[in-house]
Amino acid sequence: MRWILFFGALIGPSVYGREKFFGDQVFRINVRNENEISKLSQLVNSDNFTLNFWKLPSTLGDPADVLVPAVSLHPVKSFLKSHSLEYSVTIKDLQALLDDEDEEMQHNEGKERSGDNFNYGAYHSLEAIYQEMDSIVADFPDFVSRLEIGHSFENRPLYVLKFSTGKGKKRPAIWLNAGMHSREWITQATGIWMASKIVSDYGKDPSITSILEKMDIFLLPVANPDGYVYTQTENRFWRKTRSRNPGSPCIGVDPNRNWNASFAGEGASNNPCSEVYHGPHANSEVEVKSVVDFIQKHGNFKCFIDLHSYSQLLMYPYGYTVHKVPDAAELDEVARRAAEALASLQGTKYKVGPTCTTVYPASGSSIDWAYDNNIKYAFTFELRDTGHYGFLLPANQIIPTAEETWLGLKTIMEHVRDHLY
Ligand SMILES: [Zn+2]
Repeated sequence: MRWILFFGALIGPSVYGREKFFGDQVFRINVRNENEISKLSQLVNSDNFTLNFWKLPSTLGDPADVLVPAVSLHPVKSFLKSHSLEYSVTIKDLQALLDDEDEEMQHNEGKERSGDNFNYGAYHSLEAIYQEMDSIVADFPDFVSRLEIGHSFENRPLYVLKFSTGKGKKRPAIWLNAGMHSREWITQATGIWMASKIVSDYGKDPSITSILEKMDIFLLPVANPDGYVYTQTENRFWRKTRSRNPGSPCIGVDPNRNWNASFAGEGASNNPCSEVYHGPHANSEVEVKSVVDFIQKHGNFKCFIDLHSYSQLLMYPYGYTVHKVPDAAELDEVARRAAEALASLQGTKYKVGPTCTTVYPASGSSIDWAYDNNIKYAFTFELRDTGHYGFLLPANQIIPTAEETWLGLKTIMEHVRDHLY
């Protein structure tokens, strides 16, 4: 058995139950050998510390990031010390970062309310993102349309922007997905930025122009709207959906363990309180089911891109097995070129590889489902950063992140354009 297997099942409770994080810190814990891995798993397992794991180690030498509540600082430190686990504090004052983020958002909302245009360098409410989608459609009615592909568990619409120059023809298509994990705010922000980039560059940039002459692009910038609203009203670090789990006090399913791809296998949990709970059955989450139904009904998707954060990785299937996909060589080559293009702008380094061996086993993930359903070009980006801010990436990094990601994405889309099957 590979050493990492146990993490999937043992990630701690996801109910955090409070809005303020006074005195809480984020620790980076180093694990260098099997013994330290097993100590870390004790920590992950323990109900006493109410930890929230932000990032688990992918390989020996790769650190774990964990949110430690103020009340657990002492016991966790003494646990780490008594087991000789090396650690550093990456975020000393979590609440201060949250306050900064909040203040900046409110300041920006005020400016936008008093007439400023949508600021792509700021984080936004769901409502503001939906309004901006409408305004893009209003500005480019012949080119962009808004589709409602379903509703979330709490009945919020799931809006997709369709970019098409095909005038009614059903063309091969590209699916862009963001915000499945609600706390990964850089992804929703990057998603909506991409919408504006597509409309502003079409007809000017020969690359995106030629892509759109052959293919349609469908963009779902907020794939988990209930979770996204919850991160802004209740708990900034909410990851899952907000569906109810009968018989459990814990809420939500990990939507990226809920797809019908080796469902309930390695790297997912059957415990509703886990951050990686796979749900009662594949597609149990209406947010996932709506995308699956839409893509299957369409029937001509060739590319599926899922945006997550953080860690700076570009991955392709599989997550559910260490076995290589038949197209591994091609996908790896495309991903490496995409990562190079991404790095060419500001030097941001990405690691490339199949999910299972690049991070850890993850069954029921979106890109594995896509690949197994004849969507060959399936990739997951884990955007900035590598843990300095983690999920709290400052708003002044939104545009730099989106711009570099766009170069990587375009490399993939160009390859798809030239290798339609
Ligand atoms: Zn994610």
